[in-house]
Amino acid sequence: MKIKTAALVIILALSLSGVLIVAVSMHSLSSIQEIKSTWMSLEAALPNGENANSFEDSTAGPSAELRETFYKSLDALTSSGNSILYLTSATIILFILSAYWLIRIQIIKPIHRLTQSMTSIANEDLDVEIYGTEKKNEIGEMARAVEIFKDNVYLLECAKTELFSANLDLESSILSRTNALKNSEEKLRAIVETAVDAIISIDKEGNICSYNSAAESMFGYQKNEVLGQNVVIILPEAFRNSHDEYISNYLQTGKPKAIGVIREMEAVRKNGQHFPIHVSISEVKVSDDVLFTGIIRDISELKAYQKSLQASKELANSANKAKTDFVSNMSHELRTPMNAILGFAQLLEMDENEPLSASQKESVGEIKTAGKHLLSIINQILDLNKIEVGKTSIKLTKTSPTELIQESLALIIQMSHTNNIELIDDIEYEKLPDLYTDEMRFKQVLVNLLTNAVKYNKQGGKIILKTEMHHNKLRFSVKDTGKGIPLYRQTQIFVPFERLGRENSDVEGTGIGLSITKKLVEIMQGDIGFESEQDEGSVFWFELPVYESVV
Ligand code: ADP
Repeated sequence: MKIKTAALVIILALSLSGVLIVAVSMHSLSSIQEIKSTWMSLEAALPNGENANSFEDSTAGPSAELRETFYKSLDALTSSGNSILYLTSATIILFILSAYWLIRIQIIKPIHRLTQSMTSIANEDLDVEIYGTEKKNEIGEMARAVEIFKDNVYLLECAKTELFSANLDLESSILSRTNALKNSEEKLRAIVETAVDAIISIDKEGNICSYNSAAESMFGYQKNEVLGQNVVIILPEAFRNSHDEYISNYLQTGKPKAIGVIREMEAVRKNGQHFPIHVSISEVKVSDDVLFTGIIRDISELKAYQKSLQASKELANSANKAKTDFVSNMSHELRTPMNAILGFAQLLEMDENEPLSASQKESVGEIKTAGKHLLSIINQILDLNKIEVGKTSIKLTKTSPTELIQESLALIIQMSHTNNIELIDDIEYEKLPDLYTDEMRFKQVLVNLLTNAVKYNKQGGKIILKTEMHHNKLRFSVKDTGKGIPLYRQTQIFVPFERLGRENSDVEGTGIGLSITKKLVEIMQGDIGFESEQDEGSVFWFELPVYESVV
């Protein structure tokens, strides 16, 4: 029942009681009125001066009928009074009971239970069931409000738990970060302390604020001798004045001269000895302060080594020049008599006045073969020498390779027929771009690779010539089906005079061809290489820049 309804019931009961009281009272009033008029009639009936007090016993007083009426009225009055008393008492009791019922059952008890629920909630007992949420009165509303409160407390508890665990996580991450920081600080200190290079930090006044062990051994000063001192104590006299100026200039303009670069300069040890150093300076901003850290390396040994290296280089250069001069002179010296030998051998062969015997012809033939071989060696040595000293004339121009390839092939076609080698020209000439190259040297390179492909091929073997674009270069590849080159010899392929085990074979050669070829390709801004598999054959290739990509 709603409290409002209960109150209405109580008011109704009270009103009813009130009406009853009014009715009883009116009845009592009329009874009293009756008594009054009766009494007045009695008074009027009494003779003057007669004692009114004896009128009950007097025969001369009111009639018996009047008296009876009088007494009845008195009784009625008394009973009315009693009724009022009872009714009033009953009303009061009813009112008290109703009020008690209303307050105790409908208000105090539910409020007490709700208070208990609230206390439980306050004690974090969130499983407590809230009394009266189903009620449709104010207690119900209050209970539902408590229910919402409980839900909020629950949410609050959850948030609290989450916050607590987040806090725990935070604490543990702070702890681990602090440890990591401590560790890295210790590591950093250990690194700085054990570094081979001297590490010195200075403040913006130039005063030393950190100085590691390597600095102690490099400069001869102990840490306590230099901390707080100006860094100029380790600089040569000539540099001292400009150093302070340099720092203040940098701080004002922000324009670094030495920061971030490795500078070579001179430093001074405690004993006054000057020595060369490499120093790299970095700027470290700590809060509002600025520190400069210099990593210093003693390069005395490096300098001494560089000096000796320079001396050796000069020596090697002069030795090389002597060698080149010697080789060049010797080759020229040898070429003249060799040409003479070949010329005279030819004369002997052709002299009709004194014809040679068969064995003499054979000997002269041997002289010519050996002489030609020697002459080719001399020519190649001279060629290599010229390239090495940079005397080779190379003229890079826009060149169509088609004709040059045809001419090169024509030069070796006879040789390939003699050796029974099939020469396959797989080039798509219509697609060939112009090259940026030297015509004569291009041919020299291609002919050399083709000649080797014939020389080191098998009887009845094949040579395939191909081209393909490789980045901005045109790659020429010469593939043969020869014996190939064993893996362990492949690193020696471009080394001058290396014949890779063919020294005693029937194949004639000097071991210089490929080294000249490589140098020529390189000075024509190209690349050269090969792949080879023993008993399968080799592919030698070279790439030269395409004209379009250069201009
Ligand atoms: P040469 O041919 O005069 O000996 P090269 O410098 O042209 O000199 O070649 C060096 C060596 O490389 C050769 O002696 C040979 O052993 C090896 N070689 C060169 N080209 C090939 C090839 N196509 N197949 C196998 N071996 C080769």
